Amino acid sequence: MSDSSGFDTRAIHAGQDPDPATGDVVVPLHLATTFKQDGVGGLRDGYEYARSGNPTRTALQDLLASLEEGTAGLAFASGLAAEDTLLRTVCRPGSHVVLGGDAYGGTFRLLSRVASRWGVEHTPADLNDADALRGAIRPETRVVWCETPTNPLLNIADIARTAEIAHEAGALLVVDNTFASPYLQRPLTLGADVVVHSTTKYLGGHSDVVGGALVVRDGDLAEQLAYHQNAMGAVSGPLSDWLVVRGIKTLGVRMDRHQANAARIAEHLLAHPAVSRVLYPGLPDHPGHDIAAKQMSGFGGMLSFRLAGGEEAALRACERFTLFTLAESLGGVESLVEHPHRMTHASAAGSPLEVPADLVRLSVGIEDVDDLLADLEQALR
Ligand SMILES: *Cc1c(COP(=O)(O)O)cnc(C)c1O
Repeated sequence: MSDSSGFDTRAIHAGQDPDPATGDVVVPLHLATTFKQDGVGGLRDGYEYARSGNPTRTALQDLLASLEEGTAGLAFASGLAAEDTLLRTVCRPGSHVVLGGDAYGGTFRLLSRVASRWGVEHTPADLNDADALRGAIRPETRVVWCETPTNPLLNIADIARTAEIAHEAGALLVVDNTFASPYLQRPLTLGADVVVHSTTKYLGGHSDVVGGALVVRDGDLAEQLAYHQNAMGAVSGPLSDWLVVRGIKTLGVRMDRHQANAARIAEHLLAHPAVSRVLYPGLPDHPGHDIAAKQMSGFGGMLSFRLAGGEEAALRACERFTLFTLAESLGGVESLVEHPHRMTHASAAGSPLEVPADLVRLSVGIEDVDDLLADLEQALR
Protein backbone atom coordinates (compact mmCIF):
# COMPACT_ATOMS: atom_id res chain seq x y z
CA MET A 1 0.00 0.00 0.00
CA SER A 2 1.35 3.45 -0.90
CA ASP A 3 0.05 7.02 -0.55
CA SER A 4 -1.03 6.86 -4.19
CA SER A 5 -3.15 3.72 -3.69
CA GLY A 6 -6.85 4.13 -4.42
CA PHE A 7 -9.35 5.30 -1.81
CA ASP A 8 -10.81 1.88 -1.01
CA THR A 9 -7.34 0.34 -0.72
CA ARG A 10 -6.31 3.04 1.75
CA ALA A 11 -9.61 2.66 3.65
CA ILE A 12 -8.69 -0.99 4.30
CA HIS A 13 -4.93 -0.67 4.80
CA ALA A 14 -3.76 2.85 5.74
CA GLY A 15 -2.57 2.93 9.36
CA GLN A 16 -3.43 -0.77 9.60
CA ASP A 17 -0.20 -2.70 8.92
CA PRO A 18 -0.36 -6.20 10.42
CA ASP A 19 0.91 -6.24 14.01
CA PRO A 20 4.70 -6.90 13.86
CA ALA A 21 4.71 -9.22 16.90
CA THR A 22 1.62 -11.35 16.20
CA GLY A 23 0.67 -10.71 12.57
CA ASP A 24 -2.91 -9.66 13.53
CA VAL A 25 -4.49 -8.59 10.23
CA VAL A 26 -6.92 -6.36 12.11
CA VAL A 27 -5.76 -3.47 14.30
CA PRO A 28 -5.73 -4.76 17.91
CA LEU A 29 -7.95 -3.13 20.53
CA HIS A 30 -5.43 -1.68 22.99
CA LEU A 31 -7.16 -1.18 26.33
CA ALA A 32 -4.05 -0.51 28.44
CA THR A 33 -4.01 2.90 30.11
CA THR A 34 -0.23 2.92 30.61
CA PHE A 35 2.83 1.50 28.85
CA LYS A 36 5.98 -0.10 30.27
CA GLN A 37 9.08 2.06 29.94
CA ASP A 38 12.49 0.57 29.21
CA GLY A 39 14.31 2.69 31.77
CA VAL A 40 13.01 6.10 32.89
CA GLY A 41 11.69 7.92 29.83
CA GLY A 42 12.47 4.93 27.58
CA LEU A 43 9.18 4.86 25.72
CA ARG A 44 8.47 2.11 23.20
CA ASP A 45 7.13 3.68 20.02
CA GLY A 46 6.36 6.90 21.94
CA TYR A 47 3.52 5.48 24.05
CA GLU A 48 3.39 6.63 27.68
CA TYR A 49 -0.18 7.11 28.93
CA ALA A 50 -3.36 6.39 26.95
CA ARG A 51 -4.86 9.89 27.00
CA SER A 52 -1.70 11.11 25.27
CA GLY A 53 -1.79 8.29 22.75
CA ASN A 54 -2.58 4.64 22.25
CA PRO A 55 -1.90 2.41 19.24
CA THR A 56 -5.59 1.87 18.33
CA ARG A 57 -6.15 5.62 18.20
CA THR A 58 -2.97 6.06 16.17
CA ALA A 59 -4.33 3.64 13.57
CA LEU A 60 -7.56 5.62 13.23
CA GLN A 61 -5.76 8.96 13.12
CA ASP A 62 -3.34 7.80 10.41
CA LEU A 63 -6.24 6.33 8.46
CA LEU A 64 -8.23 9.59 8.61
CA ALA A 65 -5.19 11.63 7.54
CA SER A 66 -4.71 9.34 4.55
CA LEU A 67 -8.36 9.43 3.44
CA GLU A 68 -8.69 13.22 3.75
CA GLU A 69 -5.22 13.74 2.18
CA GLY A 70 -4.06 15.70 5.23
CA THR A 71 -0.83 15.51 7.22
CA ALA A 72 -2.40 14.63 10.57
CA GLY A 73 -5.66 13.26 11.96
CA LEU A 74 -6.86 13.61 15.56
CA ALA A 75 -9.64 11.54 17.10
CA PHE A 76 -12.01 12.83 19.79
CA ALA A 77 -14.83 11.59 22.01
CA SER A 78 -17.48 13.15 19.73
CA GLY A 79 -17.82 15.54 16.83
CA LEU A 80 -18.58 18.35 19.26
CA ALA A 81 -15.52 17.51 21.39
CA ALA A 82 -13.44 17.87 18.21
CA GLU A 83 -15.12 21.20 17.41
CA ASP A 84 -14.63 22.51 20.96
CA THR A 85 -10.96 21.56 20.96
CA LEU A 86 -10.46 23.22 17.59
CA LEU A 87 -12.21 26.46 18.61
CA ARG A 88 -10.32 26.70 21.89
CA THR A 89 -7.03 26.06 20.10
CA VAL A 90 -7.39 28.70 17.39
CA CYS A 91 -9.60 31.32 19.11
CA ARG A 92 -9.14 33.46 22.21
CA PRO A 93 -11.36 36.08 23.89
CA GLY A 94 -12.19 38.69 21.24
CA SER A 95 -11.92 36.24 18.33
CA HIS A 96 -14.74 36.01 15.82
CA VAL A 97 -16.18 33.12 13.80
CA VAL A 98 -18.28 33.35 10.63
CA LEU A 99 -20.67 30.44 10.41
CA GLY A 100 -22.53 29.20 7.33
CA GLY A 101 -26.27 29.91 7.35
CA ASP A 102 -27.61 26.48 8.32
CA ALA A 103 -24.85 24.79 10.24
CA TYR A 104 -25.42 21.73 12.43
CA GLY A 105 -27.56 22.78 15.41
CA GLY A 106 -24.96 21.56 17.91
CA THR A 107 -22.24 23.66 16.27
CA PHE A 108 -24.49 26.72 16.47
CA ARG A 109 -25.26 25.95 20.13
CA LEU A 110 -21.55 25.51 20.93
CA LEU A 111 -20.82 28.95 19.50
CA SER A 112 -23.92 30.78 20.72
CA ARG A 113 -24.23 29.31 24.22
CA VAL A 114 -20.75 28.17 25.20
CA ALA A 115 -17.98 29.90 23.22
CA SER A 116 -19.82 33.24 23.52
CA ARG A 117 -19.37 33.11 27.31
CA TRP A 118 -15.60 33.05 26.76
CA GLY A 119 -15.66 36.11 24.53
CA VAL A 120 -15.69 34.34 21.14
CA GLU A 121 -18.28 35.99 18.91
CA HIS A 122 -19.92 34.65 15.78
CA THR A 123 -21.95 35.88 12.80
CA PRO A 124 -24.09 33.63 10.59
CA ALA A 125 -23.67 34.34 6.85
CA ASP A 126 -24.71 32.91 3.50
CA LEU A 127 -21.38 31.49 2.32
CA ASN A 128 -22.52 31.48 -1.31
CA ASP A 129 -23.02 35.23 -1.31
CA ALA A 130 -19.43 36.53 -1.59
CA ASP A 131 -20.43 40.05 -0.56
CA ALA A 132 -22.36 38.81 2.48
CA LEU A 133 -19.40 36.63 3.47
CA ARG A 134 -16.88 39.46 3.07
CA GLY A 135 -19.27 41.75 4.95
CA ALA A 136 -19.49 39.34 7.87
CA ILE A 137 -15.72 38.99 8.20
CA ARG A 138 -14.04 41.31 10.73
CA PRO A 139 -10.37 41.93 11.53
CA GLU A 140 -10.80 39.53 14.48
CA THR A 141 -12.25 36.71 12.34
CA ARG A 142 -10.13 33.61 12.96
CA VAL A 143 -12.43 30.99 11.44
CA VAL A 144 -14.90 30.67 8.60
CA TRP A 145 -16.98 27.59 9.41
CA CYS A 146 -18.47 25.83 6.42
CA GLU A 147 -20.70 22.80 6.24
CA THR A 148 -21.45 21.35 2.82
CA PRO A 149 -23.85 19.72 2.14
CA THR A 150 -25.67 21.30 5.07
CA ASN A 151 -27.93 19.68 7.58
CA PRO A 152 -30.89 19.48 7.00
CA LEU A 153 -31.40 21.79 3.98
CA LEU A 154 -28.70 20.15 1.81
CA ASN A 155 -27.33 23.52 0.71
CA ILE A 156 -23.98 23.45 -1.04
CA ALA A 157 -21.12 25.91 -0.47
CA ASP A 158 -18.27 26.35 -2.93
CA ILE A 159 -15.29 25.22 -0.84
CA ALA A 160 -12.53 26.60 -3.11
CA ARG A 161 -14.12 30.04 -3.33
CA THR A 162 -14.92 30.18 0.39
CA ALA A 163 -11.30 29.24 1.12
CA GLU A 164 -10.04 32.11 -1.02
CA ILE A 165 -12.24 34.66 0.76
CA ALA A 166 -11.32 33.29 4.21
CA HIS A 167 -7.62 33.36 3.37
CA GLU A 168 -7.77 36.92 1.99
CA ALA A 169 -8.88 37.91 5.50
CA GLY A 170 -6.27 35.77 7.25
CA ALA A 171 -8.90 33.36 8.63
CA LEU A 172 -8.88 29.57 8.58
CA LEU A 173 -11.47 27.70 6.57
CA VAL A 174 -12.96 24.83 8.57
CA VAL A 175 -15.18 22.37 6.66
CA ASP A 176 -17.51 19.99 8.44
CA ASN A 177 -17.30 17.03 6.04
CA THR A 178 -19.66 14.76 8.00
CA PHE A 179 -22.41 14.58 5.34
CA ALA A 180 -20.20 13.87 2.33
CA SER A 181 -17.47 11.77 3.99
CA PRO A 182 -13.98 11.75 2.42
CA TYR A 183 -15.19 9.19 -0.11
CA LEU A 184 -17.21 11.90 -1.87
CA GLN A 185 -15.40 15.13 -0.96
CA ARG A 186 -11.91 16.07 0.25
CA PRO A 187 -11.99 19.70 1.40
CA LEU A 188 -8.26 19.93 2.19
CA THR A 189 -7.51 19.41 -1.52
CA LEU A 190 -9.84 22.33 -2.32
CA GLY A 191 -8.14 24.80 0.01
CA ALA A 192 -9.70 24.14 3.43
CA ASP A 193 -7.38 24.23 6.44
CA VAL A 194 -9.25 21.90 8.78
CA VAL A 195 -11.77 19.11 8.22
CA VAL A 196 -14.18 18.26 11.04
CA HIS A 197 -16.03 14.96 11.30
CA SER A 198 -18.65 13.45 13.46
CA THR A 199 -17.36 9.88 12.98
CA THR A 200 -20.64 8.88 14.65
CA LYS A 201 -22.21 9.15 11.18
CA TYR A 202 -20.92 7.68 7.89
CA LEU A 203 -17.38 6.88 9.04
CA GLY A 204 -18.57 4.64 11.88
CA GLY A 205 -21.52 3.78 9.67
CA HIS A 206 -23.39 1.34 11.92
CA SER A 207 -25.01 3.58 14.56
CA ASP A 208 -22.94 2.00 17.32
CA VAL A 209 -20.22 4.51 18.15
CA VAL A 210 -20.01 8.23 19.04
CA GLY A 211 -16.80 9.91 17.90
CA GLY A 212 -15.28 12.93 16.23
CA ALA A 213 -12.17 13.91 14.34
CA LEU A 214 -10.09 16.76 12.94
CA VAL A 215 -7.79 16.46 9.94
CA VAL A 216 -5.35 19.22 8.98
CA ARG A 217 -2.64 19.95 6.43
CA ASP A 218 -0.43 22.48 8.21
CA GLY A 219 2.21 20.93 10.48
CA ASP A 220 2.22 23.76 13.05
CA LEU A 221 -1.55 23.68 13.40
CA ALA A 222 -1.38 19.88 13.73
CA GLU A 223 1.08 20.26 16.59
CA GLN A 224 -1.04 22.86 18.39
CA LEU A 225 -4.13 20.68 18.03
CA ALA A 226 -2.31 17.57 19.24
CA TYR A 227 -1.12 19.55 22.27
CA HIS A 228 -4.69 20.63 23.06
CA GLN A 229 -6.11 17.17 22.36
CA ASN A 230 -3.94 15.90 25.21
CA ALA A 231 -4.16 18.99 27.42
CA MET A 232 -7.96 19.20 27.22
CA GLY A 233 -8.44 15.42 27.22
CA ALA A 234 -11.60 15.01 25.11
CA VAL A 235 -10.03 11.95 23.45
CA SER A 236 -11.88 9.00 21.95
CA GLY A 237 -11.68 5.66 23.73
CA PRO A 238 -9.98 2.65 22.14
CA LEU A 239 -13.19 0.67 21.53
CA SER A 240 -14.65 3.69 19.70
CA ASP A 241 -11.48 4.03 17.63
CA TRP A 242 -11.58 0.34 16.78
CA LEU A 243 -15.22 0.51 15.68
CA VAL A 244 -14.58 3.54 13.47
CA VAL A 245 -11.56 1.85 11.83
CA ARG A 246 -13.74 -1.21 11.22
CA GLY A 247 -16.55 0.94 9.81
CA ILE A 248 -14.28 2.86 7.45
CA LYS A 249 -13.14 -0.33 5.68
CA THR A 250 -16.54 -0.47 3.93
CA LEU A 251 -17.10 3.29 3.55
CA GLY A 252 -16.80 3.26 -0.24
CA VAL A 253 -19.24 0.42 -0.89
CA ARG A 254 -21.67 1.78 1.68
CA MET A 255 -21.62 5.30 0.21
CA ASP A 256 -22.20 3.93 -3.30
CA ARG A 257 -25.35 2.17 -2.11
CA HIS A 258 -26.48 5.06 0.14
CA GLN A 259 -26.40 7.45 -2.77
CA ALA A 260 -27.89 5.08 -5.35
CA ASN A 261 -30.85 4.56 -2.99
CA ALA A 262 -31.12 8.29 -2.20
CA ALA A 263 -31.18 9.19 -5.90
CA ARG A 264 -34.04 6.73 -6.54
CA ILE A 265 -36.00 8.09 -3.58
CA ALA A 266 -35.43 11.70 -4.65
CA GLU A 267 -36.83 10.92 -8.13
CA HIS A 268 -39.81 9.20 -6.58
CA LEU A 269 -40.58 12.09 -4.21
CA LEU A 270 -40.28 14.61 -7.03
CA ALA A 271 -43.33 13.06 -8.68
CA HIS A 272 -45.31 12.73 -5.44
CA PRO A 273 -48.41 14.96 -5.07
CA ALA A 274 -48.04 15.29 -1.26
CA VAL A 275 -44.51 16.69 -1.62
CA SER A 276 -43.98 20.38 -2.38
CA ARG A 277 -40.18 20.36 -2.63
CA VAL A 278 -37.34 17.83 -2.68
CA LEU A 279 -33.91 18.92 -1.43
CA TYR A 280 -31.21 16.66 -2.86
CA PRO A 281 -28.03 18.02 -4.49
CA GLY A 282 -28.17 15.29 -7.12
CA LEU A 283 -31.30 16.81 -8.67
CA PRO A 284 -30.42 19.05 -11.64
CA ASP A 285 -32.69 21.87 -10.39
CA HIS A 286 -31.04 21.96 -6.93
CA PRO A 287 -29.41 25.41 -6.58
CA GLY A 288 -26.10 23.83 -5.54
CA HIS A 289 -26.13 21.04 -8.12
CA ASP A 290 -23.36 22.40 -10.35
CA ILE A 291 -20.99 23.18 -7.48
CA ALA A 292 -21.70 19.80 -5.89
CA ALA A 293 -20.98 18.08 -9.21
CA LYS A 294 -17.67 19.96 -9.40
CA GLN A 295 -16.39 19.39 -5.86
CA MET A 296 -17.95 16.04 -4.92
CA SER A 297 -17.70 12.66 -6.65
CA GLY A 298 -21.33 11.84 -5.77
CA PHE A 299 -24.31 13.44 -4.04
CA GLY A 300 -24.55 11.41 -0.85
CA GLY A 301 -27.26 9.60 1.05
CA MET A 302 -29.06 12.47 2.81
CA LEU A 303 -32.17 14.15 1.49
CA SER A 304 -34.98 16.30 2.81
CA PHE A 305 -38.42 17.11 1.49
CA ARG A 306 -41.23 19.52 2.33
CA LEU A 307 -44.85 18.51 2.56
CA ALA A 308 -47.63 20.45 0.89
CA GLY A 309 -49.78 19.75 3.96
CA GLY A 310 -47.46 21.71 6.29
CA GLU A 311 -46.17 20.76 9.74
CA GLU A 312 -49.11 18.49 10.60
CA ALA A 313 -48.52 16.42 7.46
CA ALA A 314 -44.77 16.27 8.14
CA LEU A 315 -45.29 15.03 11.71
CA ARG A 316 -47.88 12.49 10.61
CA ALA A 317 -45.60 11.11 7.89
CA CYS A 318 -42.64 10.84 10.31
CA GLU A 319 -44.74 8.73 12.64
CA ARG A 320 -46.14 6.44 9.92
CA PHE A 321 -42.85 5.05 8.59
CA THR A 322 -42.20 1.45 9.59
CA LEU A 323 -38.93 0.51 7.85
CA PHE A 324 -37.35 3.97 8.18
CA THR A 325 -36.84 4.37 11.94
CA LEU A 326 -37.94 7.64 13.56
CA ALA A 327 -34.69 8.75 15.16
CA GLU A 328 -32.03 11.47 15.22
CA SER A 329 -28.55 10.96 13.79
CA LEU A 330 -27.65 9.72 10.32
CA GLY A 331 -25.13 7.84 8.23
CA GLY A 332 -25.77 4.30 9.47
CA VAL A 333 -26.66 1.33 7.27
CA GLU A 334 -30.30 1.54 8.45
CA SER A 335 -32.64 4.19 7.07
CA LEU A 336 -33.80 6.90 9.48
CA VAL A 337 -36.44 9.61 9.30
CA GLU A 338 -36.74 12.71 11.46
CA HIS A 339 -38.50 16.04 11.83
CA PRO A 340 -35.63 18.58 12.10
CA HIS A 341 -37.77 21.47 13.38
CA ARG A 342 -38.84 19.53 16.50
CA MET A 343 -35.91 17.11 16.80
CA THR A 344 -32.30 17.79 15.71
CA HIS A 345 -32.76 21.52 15.14
CA ALA A 346 -35.05 22.37 18.05
CA SER A 347 -32.22 24.41 19.63
CA ALA A 348 -32.16 26.66 16.52
CA ALA A 349 -35.82 27.74 16.96
CA GLY A 350 -36.13 31.51 16.81
CA SER A 351 -32.53 31.89 15.50
CA PRO A 352 -31.37 32.61 11.94
CA LEU A 353 -30.76 28.86 11.69
CA GLU A 354 -34.38 27.86 12.27
CA VAL A 355 -35.60 25.25 9.73
CA PRO A 356 -39.08 24.95 8.13
CA ALA A 357 -41.68 23.03 10.12
CA ASP A 358 -42.96 21.14 7.04
CA LEU A 359 -39.54 19.57 6.45
CA VAL A 360 -38.79 15.85 6.79
CA ARG A 361 -35.19 14.58 6.65
CA LEU A 362 -34.18 11.11 5.51
CA SER A 363 -30.90 9.35 6.14
CA VAL A 364 -31.22 6.78 3.37
CA GLY A 365 -29.74 3.44 4.38
CA ILE A 366 -28.49 0.54 2.30
CA GLU A 367 -31.58 -1.69 2.46
CA ASP A 368 -33.29 -2.86 -0.77
CA VAL A 369 -34.55 0.30 -2.40
CA ASP A 370 -37.92 -1.22 -3.35
CA ASP A 371 -38.66 -1.84 0.32
CA LEU A 372 -37.71 1.75 1.15
CA LEU A 373 -39.93 3.09 -1.63
CA ALA A 374 -42.87 0.99 -0.43
CA ASP A 375 -42.46 2.34 3.11
CA LEU A 376 -42.27 5.90 1.81
CA GLU A 377 -45.39 5.38 -0.27
CA GLN A 378 -47.46 4.10 2.67
CA ALA A 379 -46.16 6.83 5.02
CA LEU A 380 -47.24 9.57 2.61
CA ARG A 381 -50.59 8.04 1.67
C1 LIG B 1 -23.67 14.84 14.34
C2 LIG B 1 -22.99 16.00 13.73
C3 LIG B 1 -22.05 16.76 14.45
C4 LIG B 1 -21.75 16.52 15.91
O1 LIG B 1 -21.16 15.29 16.14
P1 LIG B 1 -21.36 14.41 17.48
O2 LIG B 1 -20.57 13.20 17.20
O3 LIG B 1 -22.83 14.16 17.63
O4 LIG B 1 -20.83 15.23 18.61
C5 LIG B 1 -21.42 17.79 13.80
N1 LIG B 1 -21.69 18.09 12.50
C6 LIG B 1 -22.59 17.39 11.79
C7 LIG B 1 -22.85 17.76 10.37
C8 LIG B 1 -23.26 16.33 12.37
O5 LIG B 1 -24.16 15.65 11.66
